[in-house]
Amino acid sequence: MSDDDESPTTYSKPNTPEIDKLKSLIISSPSTGSSDKSNESFYEKLQEYYDLKQQYDQKLRDAHTQWNNSKPPMSLEKKKENYQNFMMNRKCINCNKGPGGTIFSQDGIGQTRKITAICGCEDKCNLNIEIYMGETIYIPENLDYYKQNVEELKRELTEYKLDLLFNLRDEEEVLAEFRTIKEQLTENLDQLCTMKIAFDKQNEEIELGQSSLEIFKFFEQEVTPNEEGEYVVNRKKYIEIMHKHLNNLISQFKTKTLEYKKEPTREKLKDNFEFLVNEIQEVQNSIREEKYHIIYMDTTENSAKKGFKKQKIMDTYTFNPSKYSLDNLMVTMNTKITEFER
Ligand SMILES: [Zn+2]
Repeated sequence: MSDDDESPTTYSKPNTPEIDKLKSLIISSPSTGSSDKSNESFYEKLQEYYDLKQQYDQKLRDAHTQWNNSKPPMSLEKKKENYQNFMMNRKCINCNKGPGGTIFSQDGIGQTRKITAICGCEDKCNLNIEIYMGETIYIPENLDYYKQNVEELKRELTEYKLDLLFNLRDEEEVLAEFRTIKEQLTENLDQLCTMKIAFDKQNEEIELGQSSLEIFKFFEQEVTPNEEGEYVVNRKKYIEIMHKHLNNLISQFKTKTLEYKKEPTREKLKDNFEFLVNEIQEVQNSIREEKYHIIYMDTTENSAKKGFKKQKIMDTYTFNPSKYSLDNLMVTMNTKITEFER
């Protein structure tokens, strides 16, 4: 986000949280969209917080609407007075007591960014919410950064090798620097690898369910379970096998259609139709979903007119399939709920 204004050739170090944390996150997070238990409860609680805040804010919005629609129209002074009264007597959304209302706030940046809610009344209720929002990193930016580093270090290593080869510099000195660069290279390669794994995990891997596993077996594709017992395949492979499966289904459908032509019965027609909807379209959908994680349309208005009647030309629609969705290119980590009482 902050690096948008930089030219693509300069790489500043992206805001990367500690690599170990990222690694542990990668190990714990499953490959497909479904998130684990702790993650689920995090988002549930977060939703609960926002619902509470929404209800609280809505009361003020409703009051504003009421003042704006009052008949006869309310004077600005009166509105201000009403607003002040409203704020002075605001009730807490949790205990419905007042005055004082509920104090919703957010502060901190990066890892310390948190949202909180507490009762603002003199006689406070139990409401106490503190949620750390974690940090989000944009994987492609990190990939570029480490790739660039690795390239640079490799180039330096080559230079030192040449220096050694041609006895251009003191051997001791060169070897010492050589070692430092090698260490840096190893470190950067390690980070690059971690980023790539995170990227693949979110974008290039698909966990097979029971039915798709059967399909893979049918095409004699051996899939071995990983350490967590999940059957994970590469996205490209998945699309390839599903295409084969689709072709099979289509030829089955052709056979069925011929059978129907020979002996047209209602049952056969119904059966064929169901086969088309339940089998063929399902597979087509799953192929499309994996081929492109996002598909959207762009509309360009055509201002030119055609013919001597100056008829408006139809707008141009551009189909924009995108292989990666933005969500999958980001990783959020270190989210935590430190207080949640109501
Ligand atoms: Zn309260």
